[in-house]
Amino acid sequence: LRMVSAAPLDDDSVSDEELRPNTLEGFIGQPRLKAQLELFLEAARKRDVPPDHILLAGPPGLGKTTLAMIVSHELGVPIRVTSGPAIQHAGDLASILSSLESGEVLFLDEIHRLPRAAEELLYIAMEDFRVDVMVGKGPGASSIPLTLPRFTVIGATTREGMLPSPLRARFGFTAHLDFYPASELEKLVERSATVLDLHITQTACSELAKRSRGTPRIANRLLRRVRDWAIVHDLSKVDYEDVKSALSLYQIDSEGLDRLDLAVLRTIVTSFDGGPVGLSNLSAMVGEEAETVQTVCEPYLVREGFLVRTPKGRIATKKAWTHLGLSAPEDVMK
Ligand code: ATP
Repeated sequence: LRMVSAAPLDDDSVSDEELRPNTLEGFIGQPRLKAQLELFLEAARKRDVPPDHILLAGPPGLGKTTLAMIVSHELGVPIRVTSGPAIQHAGDLASILSSLESGEVLFLDEIHRLPRAAEELLYIAMEDFRVDVMVGKGPGASSIPLTLPRFTVIGATTREGMLPSPLRARFGFTAHLDFYPASELEKLVERSATVLDLHITQTACSELAKRSRGTPRIANRLLRRVRDWAIVHDLSKVDYEDVKSALSLYQIDSEGLDRLDLAVLRTIVTSFDGGPVGLSNLSAMVGEEAETVQTVCEPYLVREGFLVRTPKGRIATKKAWTHLGLSAPEDVMK
């Protein structure tokens, strides 16, 4: 179980709900996106029509589901939630579409994983507000066009590049979510602490933010573990030292790296002289699946400049050596 995984873990679902802001104003950070969305929603409200379809793209845990909920709340319309993998046949989607109310928001998470036939049905529904319903079976089957009320699709994807361009073209507004700077995560931690009724100092918030990998979901999760610490130690207020102690118990260091991230860096540095080393060798040495190393460790290590990927393999940077408390050789990559 990785505390620093951006994907939801079991105990996240309840608290994701309780920590979710339901207005744009309560949504922290991403100022440009917020301004764009505000304008977009306000215009739809003034014209008194449902807004165009919206695509939210970006890594997991940055607030795509939250934004979809906010849109429905701000417009005062219901929201239906489903996802690409939950729809196995075009018929599943057809029945959802044909039961939508006027103005309703349809949230399609992981939209890049819709089956092909469902995707095609969706284009037509998004463009013409029509769905062809198949009646009967075999040679006698026929399709009856059914007119749908106007509605708004909000698609979410972690892999925008995997969306076929005709589908992408159906969205009137695409928002790209980015990792949050520590200053914004600090505000988020403050807000969540208030919701959780936890007293915490400013320096403690900023330390939590710094270790959260730019990801709200991780920040909220670490905060909950710090709350456990406060409960067990009967603390009336959490300070910087408490955050440090609680997180060191979970082996999350000052840069938000966990045991596995550190094992990866240490292996490259000590067993391979800083690299380059191939993914399969590296994974075998740290005792993890290559897939895990590649998708959960590397993106953050690369983004933070601890690691570079080259055609010859992974190389540890000077920052990695220094972080491990070692002095880097002269010719190491910066
Ligand atoms: P996934 O792609 O895995 O579905 P997501 O991007 O949809 O992730 P959310 O479920 O929306 O992520 O957010 C995860 C948690 O972080 C929620 O508890 C949410 O309330 C909180 N959160 C995310 N972004 C913000 C934000 N900008 N302000 C306040 N809270 C946020």
